[in-house]
Amino acid sequence: MSPEPVLRAGAGASDPCPCGSGKTFGNCCQALLDGGAVASAEALMRSRYTAFALGDEDHLFRSWWPRTRPEGPYCHPGTRWTGLEVEEVHGGGSEAADGEEARVTFTAHFLTSDLNGRVVADQMRERSTFRKRAGRWFYVDGQAL
Ligand SMILES: [Zn+2]
Repeated sequence: MSPEPVLRAGAGASDPCPCGSGKTFGNCCQALLDGGAVASAEALMRSRYTAFALGDEDHLFRSWWPRTRPEGPYCHPGTRWTGLEVEEVHGGGSEAADGEEARVTFTAHFLTSDLNGRVVADQMRERSTFRKRAGRWFYVDGQAL
């Protein structure tokens, strides 16, 4: 028996995928969040953004390199993710060998609350490192830019 999907609020299979790929959720990140094969580091990066947007702790946990993975929970209820731009991708294709690394630079936009409780728009820019092991891509860590 497979475990229940964690959280699908706000994303049906025919809705636009939160990662901004232009595809539907059902044709983009949904299968990855359900534990399906990840073709590339960029696809994993996009699916992790979607997991943050939807509150899918399981996907974030299992796609994190075990030695660099912090304690969860990873999603913050006060943060609402509103958009993703993938800016640069180095490596990380399906042909990559085990042990290979890839880097993906992105900007993620979100809404949060300031110290006075007002909703404010903010963004984070990061260069993430991914590594392949046993045929799967993992998120290792990220450098804030
Ligand atoms: Zn997606």
